[in-house]
Amino acid sequence: MGVLLLCHHDNIYPNKNSRVLVDKTKSGKERPWRSKKLLSISYYELLHLLEFKKAERVQECGNVLEFRADEETGHLKLYKTWFCKSRLCSLCNWRRAMKHSGQTKKIVAEVMKRKPKARWLFLTLTVKNVFDGEELDQSLKALAQGFRRMVQYKKIAKNLIGFMRGTEVTVNAVDNSYNQHIHVLLCVENTYFKNTENYIPQKQWTAFWKRAMKLDYDPRVDIRQIKPKNKEKADIESAVDETAKYPVKDTDYMTNDEDKNLKRVADLEQGLYRKRLISYGGLLKEIHKELNLDDIEDGDLIHVDEEEEIDEDAYSIIAYWNWERRNYYLRED
Ligand SMILES: [Zn+2]
Repeated sequence: MGVLLLCHHDNIYPNKNSRVLVDKTKSGKERPWRSKKLLSISYYELLHLLEFKKAERVQECGNVLEFRADEETGHLKLYKTWFCKSRLCSLCNWRRAMKHSGQTKKIVAEVMKRKPKARWLFLTLTVKNVFDGEELDQSLKALAQGFRRMVQYKKIAKNLIGFMRGTEVTVNAVDNSYNQHIHVLLCVENTYFKNTENYIPQKQWTAFWKRAMKLDYDPRVDIRQIKPKNKEKADIESAVDETAKYPVKDTDYMTNDEDKNLKRVADLEQGLYRKRLISYGGLLKEIHKELNLDDIEDGDLIHVDEEEEIDEDAYSIIAYWNWERRNYYLRED
């Protein structure tokens, strides 16, 4: 429908030559600026109804995008804009996930260089679902503390080289509860697999997590080995992307039911407030520091791909969000 509109817009839009922003990756895939901005606007509208002060900031997110375009290829690179950095903003989460994935791949590559025999595990730690923002807030605090306690257990610590953890909250559509869990990419010495003194079977991981969280029930814990050799890289990359996922899927708070969406956004805002959702430990943390990578949660969301240098001959292209036409348009001089 958007395309149809564009063909007949001469009377609505003053400049008939105005062009819609098209930003493609080098492999030719179009970057989802418009769809992410539209989701961010829906999120803004919910915040506005809930009378959150930060609603205005979310409304301003990515309204003006300045790119540098390569003289020869026309390839665009984001150069300047303002992002709201809100936890549930789709535009910001898209940038953050790209950046996190890029950073972590660099860190993992460096770990592999220094510790070629290291093995990788993917661990998921959950607790019982909760039903409101207050409970979610408490539970997320407890998860972070429990995880810190657990990695210090002797049997875990002795083989642990480092880790990266990411927190995710999903919404249960049946009973509207929240499931908060942690995904962890663990890097261990190869001695981990040597014998029962070192190896931790799934049942024991569950017992450790239960103890660390002081639970009176058996929590769901999933541990899997990331297969070595051949497919190694691809598997680690998908594990990295799994931990780098959005903290909450936007479809979870953008259903067709506005009352539900309002309750979910209010609960999630309260629950996620001031939580560190992504963190590194051990060698991964050291390398993050050494490589001088900036903070994933508070850092710059413009230069998400540090490898791409800006060509000196690049020229500037500016795109504006048009609220009536609900798309980005290029400023034509
Ligand atoms: Zn944003």
